[in-house]
Amino acid sequence: MKKQIVIFLGKSGSGKGTQAKLLQKKLGFDYIGSGDLLRARTKKKDFTGKKITKILAKGELIPMPAIFKLWIDKIEELKNKKKLKGFIMDGNPRRIMEAYLIDQALEFYEWDKNVKILLIHISNKEAIWRLTKRRICKKCKKIIPFVGQFRKIKKCPKCNGQLVGRSDDTIKAVKSRLKWFKTEVQPIINYYRKTGRLIKINGEQSIEDVFKDILKAVK
Ligand SMILES: [Zn+2]
Repeated sequence: MKKQIVIFLGKSGSGKGTQAKLLQKKLGFDYIGSGDLLRARTKKKDFTGKKITKILAKGELIPMPAIFKLWIDKIEELKNKKKLKGFIMDGNPRRIMEAYLIDQALEFYEWDKNVKILLIHISNKEAIWRLTKRRICKKCKKIIPFVGQFRKIKKCPKCNGQLVGRSDDTIKAVKSRLKWFKTEVQPIINYYRKTGRLIKINGEQSIEDVFKDILKAVK
């Protein structure tokens, strides 16, 4: 199997983060998650570290030059890695400009022939349903998705803690996230579709079945 770069797209609630981690484990890929990169960067208390901390606290989008610097450093590191099998990008692109920049970067690093773009598709109705019903463990903060067998569990599977609703998962907040997806991410999806690279996966199945479809798509 040649090296592959897999980019995950999907609404919140689509389960793309879970699927990205599953795929990473199964194929031994590296993982570029913008959330992880940003959190790591805030540990360094220089100007950029402090600024990113502030922006994250306000829940705003990180300006493109800052996020791009983090990706490029990471991609550069992976390019020089001896036994790289492939890597997964999760959490970006979030703006059409980012999609163009990623394309140019992948071309520069001579990986543009190896890209798979997976859209984990769920309807707005399903996203609202899942996000307003999902729960979080009071003790260890593990998020319990509202899919498959997780719908029925009463206690945290990790620490047996109490499960409660998430305060930021109100209908209003969820709808605003979906609106953002439509204005910012839909153009990215259209762009990948027009360039013949979009692979649509039905996200309204069990976690196992979504994963099976993903494995077929990356083979
Ligand atoms: Zn727990």
